Amino acid sequence: MPGSFKTEAVVLRSIRYGEADRVLHLYSADRGRLGAVAKGVRRVRSRLGGRLEPLARVRLVLHQGRGELCTVSAVDTVHAHAAVRERRTSLERAVQACDSVLRLFDSAEPNMPAYNLLCNQLALLDADPAAATRAQALAYRAKLLLAAGFAPELASCATCGEREHLAAFSPSAGGVVCAGCEAGSFPLSPDAHGFMSTALGRPLAEAPEASERALGQADRALAETLEHHAHVKLRRVA
Ligand SMILES: [Zn+2]
Repeated sequence: MPGSFKTEAVVLRSIRYGEADRVLHLYSADRGRLGAVAKGVRRVRSRLGGRLEPLARVRLVLHQGRGELCTVSAVDTVHAHAAVRERRTSLERAVQACDSVLRLFDSAEPNMPAYNLLCNQLALLDADPAAATRAQALAYRAKLLLAAGFAPELASCATCGEREHLAAFSPSAGGVVCAGCEAGSFPLSPDAHGFMSTALGRPLAEAPEASERALGQADRALAETLEHHAHVKLRRVA
């Protein structure tokens, strides 16, 4: 249905298009993924250009024509995340945060928990250089899996329901497994198990810490669960 509408969104990616335009990949609060053309934004005097950088959280007026892409009519900044751009590690984490949403949420189905998580992660990275850690990035990823409906089973054996001796993780079973069900699994330390459970149970701003070894196992568990069940490959969180 052609016409204009308002939405709030994060700019995930921006690609050069034609002489002076850009195509934007947006993740919106109420319409999920959207593609939009920002016309003339690469011209020096563009009113829209500076506000539509990747990582920016914006309020938009979009025009839906007959094509697949909307056209940006107006834009207001909610949060530019300008400080993130000044720090390399924070910037890398922020780009990673957007990339996960880009790969995991590609439908026009809105997902408010996922949108809020992305906004929170970008705001945290902007406010505090110390938030740009591997543990913080993995806590964000664990919560994003939960929002996408792919959170691993961590409370009991994903195969048989046993609640003790859970020392391995099976991506195909989708969670921790007991000694009797460990085919196709890899070892998971109590620290890695605890890290994922705690990360999922706490607000993003209170992400737990863990050893590099535990974080490596948690990273593998999250990534392989997604590969197996969502057929989505995310870059590992180094
Ligand atoms: Zn079992």
